[in-house]
Amino acid sequence: MMLTLSAVVVTLTFQSDPRLSQVIQTAAVVEAAAIWAPYGVDVRSAAPCGLFDDSTSLTVAIEDEVVRPGPDARYTGTFGAIRFTNGVPAPAIVVFYDAMIRLTDTALLRDTPLIAWPNAFRTFILGRVIGRVLAHEIGHFLLQLHGHSAGGLMRAQPSVAELVDANRGRFALSAADQARWARVRDGGGASTAASATRADTVRRPEPPAPRRD
Ligand SMILES: [Zn+2]
Repeated sequence: MMLTLSAVVVTLTFQSDPRLSQVIQTAAVVEAAAIWAPYGVDVRSAAPCGLFDDSTSLTVAIEDEVVRPGPDARYTGTFGAIRFTNGVPAPAIVVFYDAMIRLTDTALLRDTPLIAWPNAFRTFILGRVIGRVLAHEIGHFLLQLHGHSAGGLMRAQPSVAELVDANRGRFALSAADQARWARVRDGGGASTAASATRADTVRRPEPPAPRRD
């Protein structure tokens, strides 16, 4: 007997914002789709007329973040967030675009900071980084995972070097998260996953509520 599972379709609807150009959106969706494809998830841009009625639909918006001074100035962790209410993730991802750009532009590619590369290449890399950020937030949503995992896509703090790297191997789901996804997908819920009771490891001291990661 052969079991076939149809892919879970996740559609992304991007907020209209000049910073999220079509080129960046396309590169981001391609990257997020490549990360999730091995796990039976088909990440797409939303169709104009809502053609994928069976899909899980997530919105993507840019949110400005106050940059904290002090020891966290070199903070490289959270470029995206998704809101949890009573343990349930909302289908709305935010990207801290300006903070992301600021750090990504300093990333060295062949010893040259990204900001010094031709604009087309820089845009492509920014799309890749956003795609990896989106893939992580999609993971919070699909896995119903409020905390973070020790490794893989759902680790808390990938470095900028990892986010720009041509190799996306560091953004695969860990074995534990693959098992969790299988349970959630099969309808068993995530409650048996050990990580469900993990404390949230988000380092951000604010805002007090609601919780995000
Ligand atoms: Zn996270």
